[in-house]
Amino acid sequence: MTGLVIVGHGTRSAAGVDQFAALVERVRRRGDVGDVEGGFIELSRPPLTDAVGALVARGHLELVALPLVLTAAGHGKGDIPAAMAREQERHPGLTYRYGRPLGPHPLLHDALEQRIDAALAGAAQADTADRAGTWVALIGRGSTDPDANAEVAKVARLLWEGRGYAGVEPGFVSLAQPSVPAVLERLRRLGARRIVVAPYFLFAGVLPDRIVAQSAEFAAAHPELDVRVAEVIGDCDALADLVRERHAEALGGDIRMNCDTCAYRVLMPGFADKVGRPQRPHDHPDDPVGHHHHHGHDHHHDDHRDHGSVAVVGGGPGPDDLITVRGKALLDAADVVVVDRLAPQGLLAGLRPDVLVVDAAKVPRGPSMAQEAINEALVSHARAGRRVVRLKGGDPYVFGRGHEEVQACAAAGVPVTVVPGVSSAIAAPALAGVPVTHRGVAHDVTVVSGHLPPGHPDSLVDWAALARARGTVVLLMAVDTIAKIASVLIEHGRAPETPVLAVQDAGQPSQRSLPARLDEIGALAAREGVGPPAVFVLGPVVALTTTGPHT
Ligand code: SAH
Repeated sequence: MTGLVIVGHGTRSAAGVDQFAALVERVRRRGDVGDVEGGFIELSRPPLTDAVGALVARGHLELVALPLVLTAAGHGKGDIPAAMAREQERHPGLTYRYGRPLGPHPLLHDALEQRIDAALAGAAQADTADRAGTWVALIGRGSTDPDANAEVAKVARLLWEGRGYAGVEPGFVSLAQPSVPAVLERLRRLGARRIVVAPYFLFAGVLPDRIVAQSAEFAAAHPELDVRVAEVIGDCDALADLVRERHAEALGGDIRMNCDTCAYRVLMPGFADKVGRPQRPHDHPDDPVGHHHHHGHDHHHDDHRDHGSVAVVGGGPGPDDLITVRGKALLDAADVVVVDRLAPQGLLAGLRPDVLVVDAAKVPRGPSMAQEAINEALVSHARAGRRVVRLKGGDPYVFGRGHEEVQACAAAGVPVTVVPGVSSAIAAPALAGVPVTHRGVAHDVTVVSGHLPPGHPDSLVDWAALARARGTVVLLMAVDTIAKIASVLIEHGRAPETPVLAVQDAGQPSQRSLPARLDEIGALAAREGVGPPAVFVLGPVVALTTTGPHT
């Protein structure tokens, strides 16, 4: 027989805790969902571990865990599953089915309508005519999860449909915009005279109190407006009905959260740090686990574990701190890192011990199969549900073959994203004191691969055109071809005295730079033993090279 554990977030509000307990008691009294306990993951008693422990003690090793949350944000998606994972470590053999968040649901919309009617009741009859003159500000908790905020907007729309209010506008009391004052101001400018602020909250708490305070402040500043605040949904039969429905669904159905717009799975603008981020449980003060984390276990019960992904990340020219913030966040969340030789190796030391690091140079392959073998490795790890970071040097799309990997993932149906990087083409000259452009000196910069020498049948470079141009040329992969390139450039018209700088190991303690004239660079590089990785930058900007302690 399954037990039901109703999981709340917890609140500093005693009234909120009482309402939660009353709802658990209401569900229990009805007797139609079996053995029931309620517990919190934070702030309030009893902690989740006590609720689960009580059910296990009464013989339930199969549970339904129902997150008592209106929308799926961090608590529903990550914190509660993580806390349940910890319970499974404590109670070997414990299994659970995870229920969906409560909203949006018509039972909730009806409950909101009743709370709004009750708020209007003092004025006149809350009849249809009254509603036509009433605007509703539906205020959600607000989240750093865009999908959760979008759910509140959806509820606002559904609450408006067919109910005859002048309009329903969503707003948020924390973390998201528009804020309570902002949405009230919006309604005022739309011509609203009567506004009901409806908190989209289950129970009393600090945030619903803040909604009341902010609404009162706005009303005081606008005495011409009739601003009322409705009650929270609270312990009621509709909520108990919904718990029963979600319980039945968890037992018999195919529960899926909305994965298509989940920020932990899909890259949303501005939320890249969430992609693939592991979920760790909160520590309840009454939970003896204290600050001891079980690293390496805690994401096994992440709801998104079946959804692998690949991020092709530019690691910058070498130093650990020249990767982008977004790239670093994805790296921190990775299960597998497939790394190039020129990628910043120092970053690997900071990975969790359970991360699989794959050296791309050593991916097993047949002759000339390197890229296919890497592509296959990316796809197969992602298909196994892992978060894969393909860590590359510089920028993935500057001679990095990054797009071949993106295409391979896309063709395989694997979610893939690209994170640009600081390219050595720009950074190596900069780190050696050369600006690749400068006002009045160079208005163009051309980044060229020297991998194939001039005259090679496969070469796509118009060396004669580069020779005629007067701007900056940055040559990558040109250590073996620099002498030939320099002579072809001179042959087609670049001045022999054009200044060139060879920059080797840019950003590393071993960095060195060697200046020369274009007609001397080939001999100098050979004589000085310039070796990869190195760039050659040539053109009038090289004459501006700054020297000093920073170069
Ligand atoms: N995607 C990389 C370039 C890959 S091609 C980027 O955007 O930087 C490899 C070439 O990059 C090397 O042959 C060398 O020319 C250059 N390179 C990479 N890292 C370098 C470094 N730290 N110093 C100098 N050149 C570097």
